[in-house]
Amino acid sequence: MPGLEDLYREIILDHYRTPRNRGALETPPAVVAQGHNPLCGDEIQVYLLVEDGVVRDVKVGGQGCSISQSSASMMTQAVKGKPVADAHRVLDAFRRMMGLDVDGEPEDVNLGDLEALQGVVKFPVRIKCATLAWTTLAQAMDEAGA
Ligand code: ZN
Repeated sequence: MPGLEDLYREIILDHYRTPRNRGALETPPAVVAQGHNPLCGDEIQVYLLVEDGVVRDVKVGGQGCSISQSSASMMTQAVKGKPVADAHRVLDAFRRMMGLDVDGEPEDVNLGDLEALQGVVKFPVRIKCATLAWTTLAQAMDEAGA
């Protein structure tokens, strides 16, 4: 993608080529949510295991473009092992970065590698690619009652 800075492009490609937390979890006890971005053909499954208010494990299956897959990989890193409240904070901060409407006051959240995706905002057609894993995570959190 032209227009993305080199460093950001490298982070995105690294997560695309070596995706973190790929696979599936046994359901139950985990829940699974399906996401689909018809604009690009991206498909994703987010498996989520929440115990005692903590995201114990998260895994991602599916296929799609480099933006959707790298965003999913980064998402798993950002929420795995975190208290549910922190996972919601990252979720909200990421959606804000992508220009989506989010209720409540913005909080100062360190997004780490996820900041590599902020350049995607310049390509409105790709925003759905970048946010697919997160929308699907939000569904899985709902499903898990978290
Ligand atoms: Zn895509």
